[in-house]
Amino acid sequence: MRRWLALVAACLPAAAAVGATAPEVALDVGHFLEKPGVISVTGVPEFEYNKALAFKVRETLEAAGLRVRMIGERGDFADLYERVKAARGADLFVSIHHDSVQEQYLPVADKFAGFSLFVSRTNPQVTKSLACASAIGAQMLKAGFTRSLYHADPVLGEARPFADETNGVHYFDNLAVAKHATTPALLFEAGVIVNRNEEARLARPETQALIANAIAQGVTRCLE
Ligand SMILES: [Zn+2]
Repeated sequence: MRRWLALVAACLPAAAAVGATAPEVALDVGHFLEKPGVISVTGVPEFEYNKALAFKVRETLEAAGLRVRMIGERGDFADLYERVKAARGADLFVSIHHDSVQEQYLPVADKFAGFSLFVSRTNPQVTKSLACASAIGAQMLKAGFTRSLYHADPVLGEARPFADETNGVHYFDNLAVAKHATTPALLFEAGVIVNRNEEARLARPETQALIANAIAQGVTRCLE
């Protein structure tokens, strides 16, 4: 049983009060219909993968007793700042994405795989942001997923420094959604969809369920 639910159930008899007290996660579907992000090896826009995974994450978080506020799921959020505004008042902002590689490495993209997480040091709640990102990364590793480490590499990636190398978390200070958010915020890259095998895996509902579960476990732990 979720700790806050047990606590609230013990103190308040009204069911509505339980819902109002549970932590709320703002779940952001990365990109939008006009600019849908990376195009996968099989031609699927990243937005579609982000949306499918975000809905699975919502289902899992709600089943765990948390409240979820969806952002950008209709594909009409072109302005990043609007996303941040829409997340105000939530306990955590999580932006869901799928990854690519630098253009010159696209011909060898099958060599790049794994999940990654990003937080901004300019977010006013960087400690909490990092705690949540690390918790999610730890649960992803526990579920058998691997970290992509290339974002930290100055040649293969963008030299994004590690915030928590063990759990695949990087600092990306200019990341708009994390930087402007007033709530703790993180960006999650589920895996590399320009890698053939990885895309096939990420397209499976079983994989999406495993990832959603890892995110929900991590979020639950860091918000407790
Ligand atoms: Zn993206």
